[in-house]
Amino acid sequence: MKATHPVALVTGSTSGIGAAIARRLSAEGFSVVLHSRQSVEAGLGFARELGSATYVQADLSNDADRIRLIDEATAAWGRLDVLVNNAGISRVIPHADLDAATPDVWHQLHEINVVAPFRLVALAQSALREAAERGRPGCVVNVSSHAGVRPKGASIPYAATKAALNHVTRLLALSLAPAIRVNAVAPGLVDTPLTADWTDAQRLWKERSPMRRAASPEDIAQAVALLVASDYLTGEILLSDGGLNLT
Ligand code: NAD
Repeated sequence: MKATHPVALVTGSTSGIGAAIARRLSAEGFSVVLHSRQSVEAGLGFARELGSATYVQADLSNDADRIRLIDEATAAWGRLDVLVNNAGISRVIPHADLDAATPDVWHQLHEINVVAPFRLVALAQSALREAAERGRPGCVVNVSSHAGVRPKGASIPYAATKAALNHVTRLLALSLAPAIRVNAVAPGLVDTPLTADWTDAQRLWKERSPMRRAASPEDIAQAVALLVASDYLTGEILLSDGGLNLT
């Protein structure tokens, strides 16, 4: 039987930013499909904690897993209204060290940060179109990075994949409207386990950014929720960097 409440799939949602997004959408009345590559126990435990939630393990570097993820996510409640492409990987490489940015690094980052989110939208397209038939457009939010907007970031390959994701966001917004809206949130530094030892970046945000701090995962979840709530915004890249880009 199809659920009467909306359903959101959040990729990479057992930790960091994805977990905060899942918690936020759950609090706003969504049934949530949680996902991660490995942490099955954490995913199942988090689903129990949220209540109306389920968990699917899938390796997004593998297309068969991408297909299974969307199949299981849409089967869970018989509908899918929102897809949040949050899962992503980074590599820290000084920008001047061109030799360290090997073809392997480029291919790995491109597969997870660009190909996977695009494929998930393609696979979820028919389910998201059904959302529009129920009265509200389907919604995709991609989690990209300020590094995809400005010449900054953990490495050149990472920044280039996030710039590609921003462009894919705009291209899909144009192709899929009006049935499906596609937007992105582009965070600056966010306090997660991933960035715990990025001391230079932490100092930069504390001393230079107008808001004088890095974002919390909840700040980014709020920006995602804002894009989900609007039935009109599409093709937007919402820079969420505490104003650092102004300096
Ligand atoms: P994180 O490492 O806690 O989360 C990344 C998630 O992606 C994990 O849940 C992981 O399971 C998933 N993932 C990675 N590779 C995968 C694969 N092959 N298959 C399936 N899932 C995979 O990091 P985070 O900081 O919460 O990052 C979340 C998103 O935010 C990423 O897209 C990242 O690029 C972006 N971002 C983070 C920051 C920051 O400062 N933390 C800044 C800008 C953008």
